Amino acid sequence: MASSIPATQKAVIIEKTGGLEVLQHKTDVPVPAVVDGQILVKNDYTGVNFIDTYFRTGLYPASHLPYILGREAEGTVVKTGGGNLYGLKEGDRVLWISEGAYAEYTAVDASNAIKIPEGVAPKIAAASAIQGLTALTLVREAHRVEKGDWVLVHAAAGGTGLWLVQLLNAIGANTIGTVSTPEKAELALKAGATHIVNYSHEDVKQKVLELTGGKGVIAVFDGVGKSTFDVSLEVVARKGTLVSFGNASGPVPPFSIARLSAKNVRLLRPSLLSYIATRDEFEYYVNELFGFITGGKIDVRIHGVYPLSEVARAHADLEGRKTTGKLLLDPSK
Ligand code: NDP
Repeated sequence: MASSIPATQKAVIIEKTGGLEVLQHKTDVPVPAVVDGQILVKNDYTGVNFIDTYFRTGLYPASHLPYILGREAEGTVVKTGGGNLYGLKEGDRVLWISEGAYAEYTAVDASNAIKIPEGVAPKIAAASAIQGLTALTLVREAHRVEKGDWVLVHAAAGGTGLWLVQLLNAIGANTIGTVSTPEKAELALKAGATHIVNYSHEDVKQKVLELTGGKGVIAVFDGVGKSTFDVSLEVVARKGTLVSFGNASGPVPPFSIARLSAKNVRLLRPSLLSYIATRDEFEYYVNELFGFITGGKIDVRIHGVYPLSEVARAHADLEGRKTTGKLLLDPSK
């Protein structure tokens, strides 16, 4: 199989940070070599995540430039290095989470890759990894949600939002979702949200307090950031948890921790990678995620598959709030 690997490939790189114009689709990027402990994966589908836009704009600094964006993909192992490969071999269909996914080929540490079970259809692993694992670790570890809890999920029809709503529904929580359009409201309700607030024109605080008899919610999952942080703090219940896990509307400005004392609120700013840092943690959560998928318990909504060459359109749609569910890239196009 190794002989059919080309010397160069298609990939999207950034040489500097900025707007959509910094995304360069190239056709002559060297295919990386593998070292011990690595596998070379021919990527079939690459996931687009909001975090990719942060690396593009420079909100999160890339480790080096030029830089290949993208953090997750599914594909086939086409070459292996030596050493411990966690049982992976050429021909295996794998899901991986690391760096350099906006490319046809990526050299990945085998510790960050895992075989995809038979029952998981093409596209679904790449569409589920980061957003599904984020939702799963948030409801398990950031705030362990129990049956009957009242919780608030912002951007409930987004990629991570739809996962959160479905997992919370499976747990038996009462989930209030915020969305910006009636179409998104319908999707979030279908996914299992028990109540919806359209935060583009409705008063979130008033509605949440009404629904919860004035108590507020025991947990808020807030990936919107700057524009929702204050209302999230207002509607979290006494001794509740505010999980601020993203910046879709911009980063939350510096914050005085004294504001937490009025209700003894727990505030977390978690990252997925710190929940799945060890191989054991990675395997544990990925296997649980695959279990939800093969068990038919989760509907993985794919907004669209974009050719890699149209990556700028994918970023524009995601940042422009035009999407629901997951955006994928086809690196071969
Ligand atoms: P989404 O598919 O959720 O897209 C973002 C959504 O945020 C939009 O669809 C929109 O929904 C809402 N939104 C509200 N205000 C804005 C705004 N000003 N600009 C753009 N969008 C806005 O994206 P992801 O699922 O990829 O990510 C969701 C959040 O989760 C992001 O903040 C991301 O960084 C975070 N995240 C964090 C992780 C971690 O490890 N901490 C891991 C994965 C994701 P609406 O129109 O309904 O308002």
